[in-house]
Amino acid sequence: MVAAIAVTEPGAGSDVAGLRTRAKKDGNAYVINGTKTFITNGVQADFVVVLVRSSDAPGYHSFSLFVIPKGTPGFSVSKELDKLGWRSSDTAELFFDDVRVPEENRIGEEGEGFIYQMKQFQHERFAALPMSYVGAGDVIDMTVEHIKQRVVFGKPLSKQQVLRHRIADWLTEIECLKQLTYHIVRMKISGMDVTREVSMGKLMSGEMLKRITDGCLQMYGGMGFMNETLITRYYRDVRAASIAGGTDEIMREVIARLEGL
Ligand SMILES: Cc1cc2nc3c(=O)[nH]c(=O)nc-3n(C[C@H](O)[C@H](O)[C@H](O)COP(=O)(O)OP(=O)(O)OC[C@H]3O[C@@H](n4cnc5c(N)ncnc54)[C@H](O)[C@@H]3O)c2cc1C
Repeated sequence: MVAAIAVTEPGAGSDVAGLRTRAKKDGNAYVINGTKTFITNGVQADFVVVLVRSSDAPGYHSFSLFVIPKGTPGFSVSKELDKLGWRSSDTAELFFDDVRVPEENRIGEEGEGFIYQMKQFQHERFAALPMSYVGAGDVIDMTVEHIKQRVVFGKPLSKQQVLRHRIADWLTEIECLKQLTYHIVRMKISGMDVTREVSMGKLMSGEMLKRITDGCLQMYGGMGFMNETLITRYYRDVRAASIAGGTDEIMREVIARLEGL
């Protein structure tokens, strides 16, 4: 089955606690109303896991998570969104109009959804690390092939020291991110909290992937700007890495907060 996670709303993205989709208890069911946006897999999902406000009490214990299956009356895909990149992945705006779900569709305890969601975000953000260093490695491999065969000023571009050294720098950064990933795995295995390291890794992932892809595109010259060259697709796709799953700025906020700032 295809799943989707629906947290973001038109009025609340980085500030998750500002979300307005509501669940009201009605007997042994809940009635959900609201709108979610930018939801990956939203169009094709067999079910969505939706974070909603379930009480008016201030603080973080006023939210709950619900599983809403496709076809539930009142649940619709209001728009399929057109994006700069990730064009083979659907992204949707979802609408909930008096959607009635039984109590057993609530995940865990009522009021604890925000806490569960924050934990889920740690897994999602962690996945960004291998996606970044594997993706950046692929872009470099492709570019190395190009500069080896492209002859300019009588020799292959790969013989130009400035380009070779740039690639050496990127490979060094990739290795650092890879080792941070393994370090996080070891921390997780020994039961440690990895929020700080995952936030650092997510921040580095987006910045590194964008910079390397941009630098590699430059090595293609004019061909790097032509849609027939695969790197243009990478260039469009990697832009989301600093936004989806929590922006770079929010990662910096988390790191700074954990430092007591
Ligand atoms: C391709 C894609 C797929 C996505 N998939 C999903 C999904 O499946 N499910 C889901 O729920 N959401 C999804 N999202 C939404 C994503 O999580 C949000 O876009 C993201 O969290 C930012 O929220 P926002 O768009 O509302 O931006 P805003 O919160 O409006 O932020 C706008 C800008 O202001 C900056 N900013 C905000 N607060 C601060 C601050 N305190 N200090 C400094 N700068 C700040 C942000 O970093 C950003 O640069 C997806 C987004 C994209 C692009």
